[in-house]
Amino acid sequence: MRGGQGNGMENYSALQNNRDRIDMTTSICEKAEGSADGRLWINPRRENMASVGEDHQAAVRAAAARLQRFAPLMAKLFPELEKAGGIIESPLLEVPLVADGLGFERNKGRLLVKGDHMLLVAGSIKARGGIHAVLSHVEDLAREASLLVDGDYTSLAGEKARSFFAQRTISVGSTGNLGLSIGTMAAALGFRTVVHMSKEAKGWKKERLLGLGVEVVQHNGDYEAALAAGRRQGAEDPRHFFVDDEDSLPLLYGYATAIEHLKTQLADHGVQVDDDHPLFVYVPCGVGGAPAGVALGLNMVFGGAAHCFFVEPRECPCVLLAMQQPDGPPPSIYDAGLTGMTEADGLAVPRASQCAVDIALPLVSGVLLTDDKTMQKHTRLAYEAHSLRLEPSAAAGFAGPECLAKSTAMAEYIAKNDLSEKMGNGAHVVWATGGRFMPDAEFFAFLDRKFDTQ
Ligand SMILES: *Cc1c(COP(=O)(O)O)cnc(C)c1O
Repeated sequence: MRGGQGNGMENYSALQNNRDRIDMTTSICEKAEGSADGRLWINPRRENMASVGEDHQAAVRAAAARLQRFAPLMAKLFPELEKAGGIIESPLLEVPLVADGLGFERNKGRLLVKGDHMLLVAGSIKARGGIHAVLSHVEDLAREASLLVDGDYTSLAGEKARSFFAQRTISVGSTGNLGLSIGTMAAALGFRTVVHMSKEAKGWKKERLLGLGVEVVQHNGDYEAALAAGRRQGAEDPRHFFVDDEDSLPLLYGYATAIEHLKTQLADHGVQVDDDHPLFVYVPCGVGGAPAGVALGLNMVFGGAAHCFFVEPRECPCVLLAMQQPDGPPPSIYDAGLTGMTEADGLAVPRASQCAVDIALPLVSGVLLTDDKTMQKHTRLAYEAHSLRLEPSAAAGFAGPECLAKSTAMAEYIAKNDLSEKMGNGAHVVWATGGRFMPDAEFFAFLDRKFDTQ
């Protein structure tokens, strides 16, 4: 277990080192027409032929099967899922006007958006990871206590199961969206549900949870403080299950289930993926669980033909730091002298998930940095071009296609991987990770906010 923040002065030289390392190992995307852009770090440890361990692959398949088993129950608990048979999935969208707005040239391939900002029930990519983590625990409980009647999962919405769940607690620490997904799921099953919120969490996310009967504990500290509180209570009580975002494989496997579906969607759009048709995917990154799950799924389904980039806020690049120093435990961004301040509440975490970094390290192509002003620009573009309603975190992925035109590091990556001639045949997927429940007032206030030039 990792905890605590910086250890004071003895970390000061390490801090300077980290700063230097970021500066040395990243290459700045050139600024064009006044648009401030982030940087790109290419991962030297990516193995082109990397294959994911059989145990991880089996676990992803098991997660997909579990979500199928629970689908009838999901449709019963959330009537809005009936049409989709109880499976929470999102569309893959063509976005030609966004491509125009980004100056994304057709000879670079096709540009698509994975619309997780439209996901039902949880409103973000956490719908897969968070809900899978809860269902995985519920399945264990149901087996131990013989709650399933004739193997029928809808019986878990019945009186007997509900009163059993009501004596148990599910809790989580969250900057917002993980709390929304886990809180919504656990409360719908009748668990006592506690969400520890960090100071970044938006008021409307708390209100929404309170409306579902979830207990919200507001912490004045950051995400790690919120996690520590939940972790402690979870450890003390055997009837208390704490979903640990900094170290949860069930979360990560849930996220990875998206890719089998994405494969079908790409085929429906006439997008081919193989060694001559590269697929670039850009995923907003917080602790790393969601993007590592995506990278894992991409590797299982497309092998080295998929090139996955994580995107982090410039003041909060915890996964970038962890990947640059993979031999020790993930460092805190505070030790690197960064503030962690960002409008992207979904990405505002100071320390990476160890298991996410371990899994992603041989798979991920690189980490891109973006900033609040750029996320705002991209949120506005997605809205004006195609009426997409993204929350700030969810727009981080658009730094990917923009970087493609401007970054020398990206040009080197493409040349080094022998992709220069192939890009025109390829496709780019920007993963829009959340936003469904964002209230109008919040959304438009973000679009109009004034940011200092960064
Ligand atoms: C949580 C979240 C992410 C990133 O997921 P991690 O597992 O924390 O890396 C990205 N976008 C949104 C909207 C999120 O809520």
